[in-house]
Amino acid sequence: MNKKEKRKYDKENYQKNKEKIINQHKEWEEKNPNYHKKYREKNANKINISNKIQYEKDKEKRKEYSKKWRKENPKKAKSHGLAKHRIKIPKGQLCESCKIKKAIDKHHKDYNKPLEVIFLCRGCHRKIHQKMKGGK
Ligand SMILES: [Zn+2]
Ligand SMILES: [Zn+2]
Repeated sequence: MNKKEKRKYDKENYQKNKEKIINQHKEWEEKNPNYHKKYREKNANKINISNKIQYEKDKEKRKEYSKKWRKENPKKAKSHGLAKHRIKIPKGQLCESCKIKKAIDKHHKDYNKPLEVIFLCRGCHRKIHQKMKGGK
């Protein structure tokens, strides 16, 4: 066998083996249909952990965001905080806007007066905020 023939032989041999390897792999997969499933199950823990890490990261971001908001809106933040602790919505209080629905929200008309709030239903509260530009 000269060099040229040898190369040709190697190539053919490789092609033959390639098919054989592929076939073997197929056969193996047929015999082990649950392998990939098992693999996923085995790795589910890892996936959960990475989800958890992502969640923690997002949590930090959310914290960061609310910190930033409080810093940029100190009056609002203070008002919200004060109202939350000091003002309770009276039982049976109706929305001061529509006077039909039950009030479940407190709304500050003026953030300089943290304890002056009006009681609103969710729908009216939302409407008011939609009218106010960039308010919350
Ligand atoms: Zn209302
Ligand atoms: Zn409000």
